[in-house]
Amino acid sequence: MTDLRDDARRAFRARFGHPPQGIWSAPGRVNLIGEHTDYNEGFVLPFAIDLRTLVAAAPRQDRVLRMASTFDDEDTVYLEVPLDALDELQELVAGGEASPLEWAAYPAGVAWALGRLGAGLDAATGVDLMFVSSVPVGAGLSSSAALECATALALDELWGLGFVRPELAQAGRMAENDFVGAPTGVMDQTASLLGAADAAVLLDCRSLETELVPLGLGDAGLEVLVIDTGVRHDHASGGYGERRASCEKAAVLLGVPALRDLGVTDLNRAEDKLSTETFHRLRHVVTENQRVLDAVDALRENDHAALGALLDASHASMRDDFEISTPELDLAVEVARENGALGARMTGGGFGGAAIALVPGDDVSRVTSAVDAAFAEHGYGAPEVFPVVPSPGAARDA
Ligand code: ADP
Ligand code: MG
Repeated sequence: MTDLRDDARRAFRARFGHPPQGIWSAPGRVNLIGEHTDYNEGFVLPFAIDLRTLVAAAPRQDRVLRMASTFDDEDTVYLEVPLDALDELQELVAGGEASPLEWAAYPAGVAWALGRLGAGLDAATGVDLMFVSSVPVGAGLSSSAALECATALALDELWGLGFVRPELAQAGRMAENDFVGAPTGVMDQTASLLGAADAAVLLDCRSLETELVPLGLGDAGLEVLVIDTGVRHDHASGGYGERRASCEKAAVLLGVPALRDLGVTDLNRAEDKLSTETFHRLRHVVTENQRVLDAVDALRENDHAALGALLDASHASMRDDFEISTPELDLAVEVARENGALGARMTGGGFGGAAIALVPGDDVSRVTSAVDAAFAEHGYGAPEVFPVVPSPGAARDA
């Protein structure tokens, strides 16, 4: 953390020629269980991780936002946009396949969204923003939410807006939906803003109520390993949107506001009314919702073996019913289990990214080398295997 703060300060000075006023950060997240349930108004159980995106920031005299990231060369300020042009910019990028702003669409989108949420930016000053991050991109760990939430927290404080964290989470979601053009829910931002050490965040995606659920991993001698397959996805296009459309179709055909309104006992009656494929999509969502609630019960009883079994069932459901896994993810999960994991599943939107495994501390190195060896044997690119620690949410760091 100290290193990254120094990096952020140094990089800010190099780009903007003066020191930052403060540094804010927000973590990536791992979704323990509850995949593709968020936009179905169901339950999710993510936790914030110990990988973070930092933003060094300082207000300006004018009304221009300037943004830079270590993604670009030392001397590059990627985007300069007057606050008064944000609405126009949003109209330009809305509806496009992929935003021409690339990464800057996320922080610019957050500034726009804060305005939309009633921040009253008429009197706001411009801000210089420099991003530095340890969250890998596209690995299913939500580097995008980390970027949005760090931005939201920094702007909220620099502009004296006084938004509560669930409102900042909405600003991040709006940036992603309406500026970047990725139809995602509010889970990632909620985990990034509301996470706490050694706890997961149970989010009811309908009421937006949250509850911290202690994970007890340390006491149980367990670690969560991330196995990043290195296969990258693109949420702004393709399968994610298709799955979402299937779920919406199923809800319409069954006459419910969202799939959240169906329980496992409704599955029989649903099967007659849907095509096989749509039914499988629905069955994933309905059973996954139940698994989230069961996982919370298991954690309350400190039953990590039961949690592991739920992770396994979640993976099978995503592989067979929702069809969003990949051969690399299936292999990672299988090998982790064979080498001591209590359970494992792909995490994130799917079509690549990472799996997580719940592993006894003593088995971590065995799982790691077994996964490495299996990937090599199958001719897959080398995976990155590393532990993540359930960590506090977004904060001011300096
Ligand atoms: P993820 O699963 O990591 O959230 P996304 O495709 O949703 O994957 O978001 C990744 C995108 O977020 C990157 O392509 C980039 O545009 C942006 N991003 C993430 N971290 C940074 C950063 N430190 N600096 C600039 N852009 C970033
Ligand atoms: Mg993302």
